[in-house]
Amino acid sequence: MTTTADVVVVGAGIIGSSIAYQLSRHGIRVIAVDKGEGPAEGSTGASSSICRCRYTNPEVVRLAFYGQEALGNWSEFTGLAETRSDIHRVGVLWMMGETREKVERDVTRLLSQGVDAETLGPDDVTRLFPAVTNCAEPFDLTGEVEHVCRPGEAFLYEPRGGYADPVGANQDLIDATRASGGEIRFKARVVEVLRDGERVTGIKLADGTSISAGLVINAAGPWCNMLNSMAGADIRWALTPTRIQTIYRPWPEELGPLPVGMDAIMGMYFRPESAGQQIMVGSVTAEDEQEIVADPDNFKRAPDADFTQMKMAAFHHRIPSLEPRGQLTGIAGLYTINREDVHPIVGPTGIDGFWVANGFSGHGFKLAPAIGSMIAQAISGEQSGFDTDVPMDFFAIDREPIDVDVKSVLA
Ligand SMILES: Cc1cc2nc3c(=O)[nH]c(=O)nc-3n(C[C@H](O)[C@H](O)[C@H](O)COP(=O)(O)OP(=O)(O)OC[C@H]3O[C@@H](n4cnc5c(N)ncnc54)[C@H](O)[C@@H]3O)c2cc1C
Repeated sequence: MTTTADVVVVGAGIIGSSIAYQLSRHGIRVIAVDKGEGPAEGSTGASSSICRCRYTNPEVVRLAFYGQEALGNWSEFTGLAETRSDIHRVGVLWMMGETREKVERDVTRLLSQGVDAETLGPDDVTRLFPAVTNCAEPFDLTGEVEHVCRPGEAFLYEPRGGYADPVGANQDLIDATRASGGEIRFKARVVEVLRDGERVTGIKLADGTSISAGLVINAAGPWCNMLNSMAGADIRWALTPTRIQTIYRPWPEELGPLPVGMDAIMGMYFRPESAGQQIMVGSVTAEDEQEIVADPDNFKRAPDADFTQMKMAAFHHRIPSLEPRGQLTGIAGLYTINREDVHPIVGPTGIDGFWVANGFSGHGFKLAPAIGSMIAQAISGEQSGFDTDVPMDFFAIDREPIDVDVKSVLA
């Protein structure tokens, strides 16, 4: 049996479901197919879903801001009366060991793109988050060098930043797509990308059915390279599924509020979880983004003992009054890292009728609303009130690598 759509999106994670929603909102007949049993079985389900806007490039700052504010107005954005997600605006505190001058320059840069940002002094950090030390002296995690705390000069703070629920947001976008007339099918694995000569004409599913479409968009996350091979698309970018670990531990309420902490001094980030009863800790170092996974269906899901130990030691230094007790758990998921510039590729490939939205590295959750918007604008030629002003070409497959300060999740 063959059905027909204007666009088939392969993958209904946060990226595919955002694309499907925006397309159906623009009146385009879309079918998104996903091999999973339900939403968020890929990278999205493991996401820390932090929304912060400090990026090197003004365009990425605006895309991240778009995502953050979309989540802040999620009911209006999705058109759903009731949503599962929104954003917990706990604020994002950057602990980078930078001079006041550098922090103030970055604050000005963010403000110029419409993002709320402030410079905090060390005493402001203590006042807002009493449990968090304002130390800016790197800590020797081997324990060989004695540590003496030294207050940092300045800290960048994004008061409207925070985190969301990745599975809830994914489900919301699926509901929103369906409510706008789009179709999303689970248990629908693409086994072939159909071609007529040089042109892609649709996809074939494992159950033998086909969907013909004028355009197929690869939003298959860590499986993207398999889809690109099926389509015969020669992608010059190295997009590598990479194992990324996060740790969870209980958070004692009496220690007060925690922001999202981006702590380059200690090589980690942290954020509240489970309505503040837990915290989640992950890594911000490029060294922790090197474990390339050959098969995205088969990798170690539990965190490593040495990773857990190092990140917990770092976290205990940042929160000196935290008692070392309570069960530690964790998970590992996959970033699909674009090794050249840690930014995605989005839009047409060399194959007619075949587009990509791949390689989101550690940024795909917050960028997803804007990616849907830029793709829908490019296809429909229309711009609506709630659309990003950054054109899809910014991530074009034939672009030069984007300049970034660091080639890691902190890009
Ligand atoms: C531990 C971790 C922490 C993160 N933290 C953050 C963060 O704080 N902030 C942030 O912005 N980003 C973060 N990210 C990154 C972000 O989560 C990802 O960039 C994003 O989820 C990618 O979404 P996706 O839809 O491209 O991929 P996925 O969620 O993997 O979706 C791809 C979908 O494609 C489907 N698929 C694959 N092959 C086929 C096929 N042949 N047929 C049909 N369906 C197929 C899969 O089933 C899957 O559901 C984090 C990621 C991880 C792993």
